[in-house]
Amino acid sequence: MQPRILIIYTGGTIGMIEDPKSKALAPFDFSHLMENVPKVKMLDYHIDNIQFAPPIDSSDMNPEHWQHITSSIARNYDDYDGFVVLHGTDTMAYTASALSFMLQGLSKPVIITGSQLPIGEVRTDGEENLITALQIAAAKGSDGRPMVQEVAILFENYLWRGCRSTKRSADHFNAFRSNNYPYLAKIGLGITYDQDSLDRTEGKTLRVFRKLDTSVMCIDLFPGLNETTLRHQLATPGIKGIVLRTYGAGNGPTAPWFISAIRDACNRGIVLLNVTQCVNGSVHSNRYVTGDMLSGTGVISGHDITFEAAITKMMHLFGKGVGHDEVVRALHRPLAGEMTLD
Ligand code: ASP
Repeated sequence: MQPRILIIYTGGTIGMIEDPKSKALAPFDFSHLMENVPKVKMLDYHIDNIQFAPPIDSSDMNPEHWQHITSSIARNYDDYDGFVVLHGTDTMAYTASALSFMLQGLSKPVIITGSQLPIGEVRTDGEENLITALQIAAAKGSDGRPMVQEVAILFENYLWRGCRSTKRSADHFNAFRSNNYPYLAKIGLGITYDQDSLDRTEGKTLRVFRKLDTSVMCIDLFPGLNETTLRHQLATPGIKGIVLRTYGAGNGPTAPWFISAIRDACNRGIVLLNVTQCVNGSVHSNRYVTGDMLSGTGVISGHDITFEAAITKMMHLFGKGVGHDEVVRALHRPLAGEMTLD
């Protein structure tokens, strides 16, 4: 039987063409994209598509778009073997993280890809990325079940878990990376899957969560951050959750004004999640006094979660409409393989 794949084309460089006047790249429609990859026919798959109207640069991506992608996948879930989302690279890791929380218990692949060079360019990486993403979306294991049963980013030589990924380069073809989790597959002459890192748990049931609450923000620590600025940020009207981007193993200043400003925010019911600014490694709240004092205020450890997963996890949890304590409890444990507990 021919594999049935649904492509959701959101836009991004992969389908862009040069504006004749400004020479800047702008999104173009899906038929242009497919005309440039005639090799897709060699795959002998049944491929349908849904496209954003109009397709967008992913810098314009927002939670309503994520709801649209989620609904498109949920509506078509039983009719396809796998899903490929074509997306700009700029916010791809945010979308991958959001979809991981919105589509929990997947037993089919949702593969997100795009490219650094438009599909119409001679040296494009788009053709290979699209074809490999389709092959991964159609791949079955020796047990007959889909090889990939989660949201993942395919880019150049690797397949990464979606909620563990980060864009790491604006220039290189290998533009994505998961700094705290191994790749799900390596792409070379063949596609080599890593059985230990893939989530192929049996008997999963899809649970769809469409609602997101954007009453979240982030605060980045830096030497020189002053009390007025910090208190101003913590007092942002309507804010329910804050990702606090800290130093090293989750450390922050020990100055009494800092600790008391953070403690006041926690006491007001704002949920603060501690995520390290380091690209690799984890928050270890009790390793240093500077981290220990912070965790004493009520700030929750984000362990080795990425910023992209942290902010979208908060949107998802507040979107569920559960109370403060339930949000805090859920932040302590992984929901979609987004973090490793110590
Ligand atoms: N600005 C583009 C986008 O994110 C970049 C890309 O696709 O590589 O849509």
